[in-house]
Amino acid sequence: MSAYEIVHHEYDAIVVGAGGAGLRATLGLAEAGLKTANITKLFPTRSHTVAAQGGISAALGNMGRDDWRWHFYDTVKGSDWLGDQDAIQYMTREAIPAIIELEHYGVPFSRTPEGKIYQRPFGGMTTEFGKGPPAQRTCAAADRTGHAMLHTLYQQSLKCKAQFYIEYFALDLLTDDDGSIKGVLAWDMATGQLHRFRAHLVILATGGYGRAYFSATSAHTCTGDGGGMVLRAGLPLQDLEFVQFHPTGIYGSGCLITEGARGEGGYLTNKSGERFMERYAPSVKDLAPRDMVSRAMATEIREGRGVGEEADHIHLHLEHLGPEVLHQRLPGISESAKIFAGVDVTKEPIPVVPTVHYNMGGIPTLWTGEVVTKRDGNPDSVVPGLMAVGEAACVSVHGANRLGSNSLLDLVVFGRAAAIRAAELVKPDTPHKKISGASEERALARLDGFRNAKGGTPTAKIRLDMQKTMQKHCAVFRDGPTMQEGVVKLKEVINNYREDVRVSDRGMVWNSDLVETLELDNLLGQALLTIVGAENRKESRGAHARDDIKDRNDQEWMKHTLAWRTGDTEVNIDFRPVHLQPLDSEVEHIPPVARKY
Ligand SMILES: Cc1cc2nc3c(=O)[nH]c(=O)nc-3n(C[C@H](O)[C@H](O)[C@H](O)COP(=O)(O)OP(=O)(O)OC[C@H]3O[C@@H](n4cnc5c(N)ncnc54)[C@H](O)[C@@H]3O)c2cc1C
Repeated sequence: MSAYEIVHHEYDAIVVGAGGAGLRATLGLAEAGLKTANITKLFPTRSHTVAAQGGISAALGNMGRDDWRWHFYDTVKGSDWLGDQDAIQYMTREAIPAIIELEHYGVPFSRTPEGKIYQRPFGGMTTEFGKGPPAQRTCAAADRTGHAMLHTLYQQSLKCKAQFYIEYFALDLLTDDDGSIKGVLAWDMATGQLHRFRAHLVILATGGYGRAYFSATSAHTCTGDGGGMVLRAGLPLQDLEFVQFHPTGIYGSGCLITEGARGEGGYLTNKSGERFMERYAPSVKDLAPRDMVSRAMATEIREGRGVGEEADHIHLHLEHLGPEVLHQRLPGISESAKIFAGVDVTKEPIPVVPTVHYNMGGIPTLWTGEVVTKRDGNPDSVVPGLMAVGEAACVSVHGANRLGSNSLLDLVVFGRAAAIRAAELVKPDTPHKKISGASEERALARLDGFRNAKGGTPTAKIRLDMQKTMQKHCAVFRDGPTMQEGVVKLKEVINNYREDVRVSDRGMVWNSDLVETLELDNLLGQALLTIVGAENRKESRGAHARDDIKDRNDQEWMKHTLAWRTGDTEVNIDFRPVHLQPLDSEVEHIPPVARKY
């Protein structure tokens, strides 16, 4: 049908995305002898993982007693009992060899005086199953841990024989007639050429969709493209209502100040200089998990105790730490505070507000990376040919609230696990089955439709409408009427997009207008599922805090939301049980109790 010429490729496996998760998976696949391609819209080391500051967790016990079972306990509790305990066991146990592996690959971790990997305290990380003092569990390369990891992983991937397709934008999944995933259609942004990649296995590692909100710490490229592709393939996404707000985004710009700043001894104050976290979390104070600190800050601001002319933010103090610690442990954020807030951290506090930071929800998977859907009553029905890893996925190890430094860990542990499973599933050089023409034609028609969109509203305007709607109607605190109003508004934004979006550049070479329009399409679907899922969940759990229903309700709601997009503005909701049993007898299942710190 189409006027587009398509270059054809065949691989054993394809990874979409070259952040920490995508690179670790690519490396594992290539090492296993599979012919592997990595398709990435960004140059690999520009992926958002590069911005990760604080560190990566593992119970190494380099700076005090630690045990991976305590890490397991903390993660289950941090997830507010929505995390799958089999996957959490796998992640926290594998954390230790994963860090040693990273060290051997060449990650330049900071060191203790005796030469061990340096570890700092992070929110919600404790000892003795929550009864002991805070754990020093987060391994760091100063405050540039993601940068160090991403560069190391990219260098390692180049060493093995993976093929990179850089600045290629993946448009859609290709399927066969029975719905198995068979490849990806991608657009080479530099030449304008389209490419069909056939593979036995596609691993989506496309990152989060933080840019559905107005103020986010994530890069402008975090647009949930993998989630968008999954929805268009008729598959569900899981738990999108759980959006993490990081307590310390710089007021105004939203740039992140790492939790490591509080790990090193930083603290928050309100307008009277009070260290208010002592009231909200008496034992761990400023090192409470992110959902709790964000709510405490929002409460202080709402009750008129914020700082600044409009009493709309909070102060983060680091000046007491002294220039030496700041220079050695927090050089990057000292610079960010100077540039984005005009603050000298050795002398004055940094103005901060809770800012969207991480998506706990995503593409539902097992701990092996295999994507699942609910089919014929089976909630763990594997989708043949498809895996997902990293922030794009919902394994679910973070449940309703992620603990800081558990995401970088999730990337490497499950990137590796997916490659191991892939090597079991795919035999090198197996002949490829036919792709259905229909799935390719749909993908091309969608591309062509947006490329020729002649409406009256530019993409940027519609994107802003979506971001403002989400920020206002689905934020740190939520309630029924506000969310219902938000759903109506967001549906209007989506209808306006469908009927009236305008793309002014009709070309195929570096058409950033078209790229942003395709990204917006992906964002809109996930924004819709987020707010509809949030309105639907009649309880408060983790990052989902309702003013009108303040309690967690395990009886009815200890279950994952699964949501399908069944039309432009229509959503179908169902549920999957939480995996409450660990993988094996090395740990015991942690029964739910009230979450207090
Ligand atoms: C400022 C900041 C600081 C953070 N600090 C920490 C921390 O200290 N510790 C921690 O544990 N977590 C931290 N996090 C969270 C963590 O860094 C992220 O969750 C994680 O890096 C995501 O990695 P990823 O590999 O899943 O995706 P990303 O690193 O976001 O990479 C996504 C990849 O997908 C590719 N891609 C996307 N769409 C397409 C498409 N359509 N076609 C082709 N390619 C595509 C991109 O090119 C990119 O390579 C932080 C997050 C932020 C925003």
